[in-house]
Amino acid sequence: MKVVYHDHYRRVYSSDPASAPGRIESICEELRDDFEFVEPKPASEENILLVHSRNHVDSVKAYPLIYKTALLAAGGAIKASEIAMQSQPAFGLIRPPGHHASRYSSWGFCYFNNVAVAIEKLGSEAGIKRALIVDVDLHYGDGTANIFSSSSAVVYFHPDGWSRQAYLDELKRFLSVKDESFDVLALSAGFDRHEQDWGGMLKTEDYHTVGKMIKQFAENKCNGRRFAVLEGGYNHSVLGKNVKALLEGMM
Ligand SMILES: [Zn+2]
Repeated sequence: MKVVYHDHYRRVYSSDPASAPGRIESICEELRDDFEFVEPKPASEENILLVHSRNHVDSVKAYPLIYKTALLAAGGAIKASEIAMQSQPAFGLIRPPGHHASRYSSWGFCYFNNVAVAIEKLGSEAGIKRALIVDVDLHYGDGTANIFSSSSAVVYFHPDGWSRQAYLDELKRFLSVKDESFDVLALSAGFDRHEQDWGGMLKTEDYHTVGKMIKQFAENKCNGRRFAVLEGGYNHSVLGKNVKALLEGMM
């Protein structure tokens, strides 16, 4: 399991909770002794235009620090996806998050859809045809769903159980009935459903369970190719432990 990380993700680029000081540090602290860190390059504007309109790119560009950090976040997702294509699991420890970014607009602390950019780039350069995106963030990734709404090649799934057990059962059921193969599995890894975060539901050990389910599905149906990228998760006192639990399940 490789962790894709750049020191510039520590920069505070806005006043929202995803950009809060100390958030990335809290995850680094938990992972740095146990995982190999690799540094990404920023995505190019051309990469971003695979997913987003010129107008949207220009509207983000009006805020230079956000723009630079958002390009680096998309670059982190790209790097994680490239590692996954070599059948090695990877995690993009990146921000800003991306799953609320649609083709023409974005909201919810997101600017560019990191996962979508990575998948589209694999589609255009690595020749992948089918991808599964599982999103375990508390919030529905409307941006990701919108971007791929007319695509039969990319499936987006966001479990939304009303209790801890129902949630895990829903994810397990989806993965067990999904009797088709994909070239890669991407996980939008949000941690805001944790019992000590906004969603107040999942325990830290549940992220390990989620990681194991993702690993098993990827090994059976995706040639082992799997990667995750950070979306939400705002309680710095538990975030690092939750990320670590997920990665240990996924590796
Ligand atoms: Zn969220």
